[in-house]
Amino acid sequence: LTLEGIVGVGEEVAGMKIRAAVMRRVGGPFELEDLQLDAPRADEVLVRIVATGLCHTDIYIAEGLYPPAPPSVLGHEGAGVVEQVGAEVEGLAPGDHVVLSFDSCGHCPACQSLHPVFCEHYFPLNISGCRTDGTHTLQSAAGPVAGCFLGQSSFASHVLAHPRNTIKVRKDAPLDMLGPMGCAIQTGVGSVLNVLQPTAGTSFAVFGCGAVGLAALMAAKYVGCDPIVAVDKVGSRLELAKALGASHLVDVSTADPVETIGALGGAQYVIEASGVTAAFEAAVKVLRYGGVMGMLGGHRPEATVTLNMQDSFFGKTITGIVEGNADPKTFIPYLVDLFMSGDLPIDRLVRFYALDDINQAVADSLAGRTIKPILRAGAPTSSIRAG
Ligand SMILES: [Zn+2]
Ligand SMILES: [Zn+2]
Repeated sequence: LTLEGIVGVGEEVAGMKIRAAVMRRVGGPFELEDLQLDAPRADEVLVRIVATGLCHTDIYIAEGLYPPAPPSVLGHEGAGVVEQVGAEVEGLAPGDHVVLSFDSCGHCPACQSLHPVFCEHYFPLNISGCRTDGTHTLQSAAGPVAGCFLGQSSFASHVLAHPRNTIKVRKDAPLDMLGPMGCAIQTGVGSVLNVLQPTAGTSFAVFGCGAVGLAALMAAKYVGCDPIVAVDKVGSRLELAKALGASHLVDVSTADPVETIGALGGAQYVIEASGVTAAFEAAVKVLRYGGVMGMLGGHRPEATVTLNMQDSFFGKTITGIVEGNADPKTFIPYLVDLFMSGDLPIDRLVRFYALDDINQAVADSLAGRTIKPILRAGAPTSSIRAG
């Protein structure tokens, strides 16, 4: 049986050759490969990726802690330009600058109430590795590769996305800077503005000064929280937190955050963005009675904490927050406006890499040398349509 026999003589193989960083086995490394990407269906959008953020969730999945299983193309903070839209797609056109976020169905009660992160179809749409009908969008010489990750799989030169997770943004904004708006920045800022909703003059503390924690800190500063306490173990991150508006710093390698924040009278609002269990426990302890703590740190599935019931009794609220409980369609353009007006200086967090240097970006991120790596996709090796 020849290849022609399988495909059908004269039958066109729609789609295009793309370049992508493929996770071939648990634990990596990422390997740059040429893959075949399907042509967009009627409800899909083809986006040329300009740049994509690297998030800790990508690293957790590469370690095999969560699906999809390898071989896979991860990446979920893509920013790029629309190249082609399916016949049923409305509101997007070739040439539009877009930021990609997580996907959602648009029809279920959660989507209808503008909380798409609780979409009933969140898992099949975002981490199944394929379309909801089971077909793969990505093929390699060795067989299908899991794609559709968070509705995109953006460690690639091109992706297929849906209109709901393809967010049009203003063209005067630097597109290569905007990918993290789709996850880390949305998560950090949204947790403060959408969920905690502190008012000016209230006390705020953030545990973990990575991209998410520092985005939360920027939002607290924007609202006018005071004091603003930043907690981390990396001195350079604490210095950056100070430059971004922290009034007090706690280096956990030399000081106890419970003591330091306790001496300030505790914090009315706390963000736990480190995913470290000891930090979670300390965050609950420093929370004032009646205060609210948002938990958004990526964590290992088995992570378990111990809380004192008496301490937690007096009106303390602990709430898990995913993607800032935001509706990306409206929230991402708002974040871009904040960035352009100087109120959300995410340029202070980023360092650029070529997509080919993704393994270096992972190493720098894990070592704390880079807060938010952004991978520039560059030109694909070929955009010739196979046929
Ligand atoms: Zn993420
Ligand atoms: Zn839904």
